[in-house]
Amino acid sequence: MINPRVRSLQKSSTLKITALTKKLKKEGKDVVNFAAGEPDFDTPSFAKDAAKKAIDNGFTKYIPSAGMPELREAIAHKLNSENKIPCGPNNIIVTSGAKYALFAAIFALLKEKDEVLLPAPYWVSYPEMVKLAGATRKVINCKKENNFKLQKEELKKALTKKTKLLILNYPSNPSGITYSAQELKEFYEIIKGKNVFVLSDEIYEKLVYDELEHTSFASLAGAYKTTVTVNGFSKSFSMTGWRLGYLVADEEIIAQASKIIDHTTSCASSISQAAGLAALQHGKGWGEKIRREFQYRRDILWEGLNASKGLVPIRSQGTFYMFCDISKTGLSSFDFASGLLEKQLVSVIPGDAFGAEGFVRFSFATSKEQIHKGIERIRNFLKDL
Ligand code: PMP
Ligand code: GLU
Repeated sequence: MINPRVRSLQKSSTLKITALTKKLKKEGKDVVNFAAGEPDFDTPSFAKDAAKKAIDNGFTKYIPSAGMPELREAIAHKLNSENKIPCGPNNIIVTSGAKYALFAAIFALLKEKDEVLLPAPYWVSYPEMVKLAGATRKVINCKKENNFKLQKEELKKALTKKTKLLILNYPSNPSGITYSAQELKEFYEIIKGKNVFVLSDEIYEKLVYDELEHTSFASLAGAYKTTVTVNGFSKSFSMTGWRLGYLVADEEIIAQASKIIDHTTSCASSISQAAGLAALQHGKGWGEKIRREFQYRRDILWEGLNASKGLVPIRSQGTFYMFCDISKTGLSSFDFASGLLEKQLVSVIPGDAFGAEGFVRFSFATSKEQIHKGIERIRNFLKDL
């Protein structure tokens, strides 16, 4: 009696390995955690204080399903001023995490058999959500010699009459690469006028390094009406457990997607929304502080992995992930990850979960001491192979 679509879903390996790492740590095991898909910083106090105040003031009931009006206003202001996305509060739905924004967008846009272009490596949940919607995934296997960046020729070749959606995620989880405004414009030129939408997951927008700048796809001239942008508070404000994200789109899409919210979650947590509003109001300096810290750790991790025999890391341009070629070790991604955890108590995520066998994902959302310790253990692991 189980729906075959649900039966065919994979468990989330990012969540699974993260949970296993936390369990081992709780049991007292000295695990170095390179698996974390969340910042290791505590949620900033300006967000926590606003949530406490919301509770004390009785802001604890249902609120409009599309979100708290003041928060939608603040998000629209941020998107206009920082991202150059020409939207108003009516173009925004606040959701229970960015994950639910992706889910609502995918369900609002896709019908059965619609084709979705998915550049690989991709974040683990996209293929599963597309599958759940009954649509068809068409994976574009980006090449490692291009650091897994989608090339315009690859996009052109993959496009068919059935293509309805292109899913972009930049800076990318897991590869850590990002796209310039020029590269994004070239993608848009290819799909323009072909009735293809872009789902642009920009949740790591604040974490870009080396003076690179983030450009929102919806800010490209003419692209707004056919772009759904997804973002949230999990990564930029260390608020993963608060479950707060949002989607931004043309009003027709918002009208349809908000019905999905009405009949599923009703609204994202009112308390989290009060905290999110405070984060947007007071969080500018905080974001820059964590960006600098992550860039510093990126450098330590990259140098350590790059100097380890048999490993070829891609130098991340953003996020807190580093994707690393382990194929020279002769191990599969899974055997590498499970061997490393078993023998050296270091957790990483195998690349096959992201559609990239031969790679593993390191997260540098951990302290520099842990990064140094982890690199030493990895070298011991490699020595014993
Ligand atoms: N998109 C990407 C690429 C992610 O890495 C994550 C992290 N889980 C999400 C979306 C979802 O974030 P959340 O639901 O915590 O807002
Ligand atoms: N996005 C994070 C990761 O990729 C969190 C885990 C998840 O939501 O899948 O590890």
